[in-house]
Order: sequence, then structure tokens, then C-alpha cells
Amino acid sequence: MSHLSHEDGRKFLAVGAHPDDIEAGAGGLIAMLVEEGWAGAYLVCTDGAKGARDAERALRLPERRAAEQREAADRLGVKDVIHLSHADGELVSDLELRAEIVKVIRDTRPSVVFAWDPASYWIGDMVMNHTDHMVAGEAACYAVYPAAQNAMTFPEQLTGERRPHRVDELWLFGTNRPNVFVDVASHAPQKAHAQAAHVSQLAGYFTEEENRLAARWLVRDYDNPVVRRRAADPELVESFRRIILGQRVMTLDPDIFYDPFPAS
Ligand SMILES: [Zn+2]
Repeated sequence: MSHLSHEDGRKFLAVGAHPDDIEAGAGGLIAMLVEEGWAGAYLVCTDGAKGARDAERALRLPERRAAEQREAADRLGVKDVIHLSHADGELVSDLELRAEIVKVIRDTRPSVVFAWDPASYWIGDMVMNHTDHMVAGEAACYAVYPAAQNAMTFPEQLTGERRPHRVDELWLFGTNRPNVFVDVASHAPQKAHAQAAHVSQLAGYFTEEENRLAARWLVRDYDNPVVRRRAADPELVESFRRIILGQRVMTLDPDIFYDPFPAS
């Protein structure tokens, strides 16, 4: 049975700050979408060069992490991976970054965009968020609306086939204010397999225990009462702030998508 349906355009773009952000934030849902026939692209804003504890381990890290991101995307069936290669830890939400993301949106023409929630200075009550995450999220939000759809914004990009583009839905991960929970238990093996492609981060930077905790803090709503009641494994739930900008392109199966704050 199909979990997802669509009315228009089965294309998504997922924007992350570092190689490995996208799998952690939305890997389960992306696995579902690809299985349903959606085409996807990843946009990674930084080179991930600081994802090591010492200079020796950081050697050639950008090339290595780009290869790992390619492998992770392959494991979920995502065809395109675009790297902006800004310096890790130094991402700035400026017009340059906004224009770069707008250009990718105008080229890939997604109906759904995934990105970090830019409002998450902290996540839950334990974790300060990474500055690049908020910056990438803010730039992605500004690019989605109003820039990408506005012909007066970055008009120099509108050459050849490239036209303004309106994104229909924005799904923000790493959010403190989710309005959709997705039970990704059915696709947990695919998500874990994709995350395991980021070998430099598993073995070179984080310990096994840190990785386990990181997985929990990002998808932090395992302790939400609705998740506890409904999900077989509350830790295999991804949470999002879903914002409808155009038409609803995703129809959500209530068995796996649920509202964290139901009216009754
Ligand atoms: Zn990150």
C-alpha cells in the first residue's frame, strides 16, 4: 500500500549544512519518498572540514566527506548531490548563499524542500545547535520564500531555461515546534545504512555513544506523549515543521504521519 501520494511534481530538494545532516534529519522520510517514485537532490552548504578532532584526521576531509555523502545518497536512491563547499563552521546567511540556493531551486524545481529549522538555537533542553545548521536553514527559508519565485530577485540567473520557481511545501527538521511526526520504523534499515556511509564521522570524530545520543537529540520527540502512544519504537520517529506555501503535494497516511498536538 502506498503511504504517500502526490498531486503535482514528485521532486524534493534537501538542504543540509554538513555532509550527514540530511540523513540524520530526514533520512527515513526520504527513503519512503524515493520508494514512492520521487526524485530527489541534496544540497550541502559546507565542506565538513571541521568534522575531526585533530589536524591529522582532518587531512583531505572535504574530499572524503563529499565521497561519503555521494555514497549515502546512493544508498537512499537520491541522484543529485550538489556541494557549495563553504568553510565548515563559518557559514554566513548572506545574499551570496541565498543566491546559490535560489539557483539550485530554480534548476531542480522541487515541490518539497527539506531544511534545518533556523529558529532552533537549541534543541530540546540539552543541546545547543550548530551555527551552520541555523544559517543553512535560514538561507534555505529565505531562498524558498520569496526569492526563488520572484523574477525580480537575482534576475541575472534567469537565462536560458532557468525560470522562477515556487516551492509548494517546506519541511523543517531539527525543530522544537513540530507539526508532523513521521514513523520511519519501516525504513529504519535504509536510514541507518545511509548514515553508516559517513564513515569518517562514525570512526574519526564521534564515539559510538555520542552517535547514539546525536540520533536521539535530533529526533527528540521520542518522549512526546503522542509518539509514545502511537509509535512502536518512539526513537524511530522523525519530526518536522511542515509549512504549506503553495498546494498540498503530500497526502499523509495517518498510520505513519501524525499530529503531535491533536485537538482531542
Ligand atoms: Zn551538521
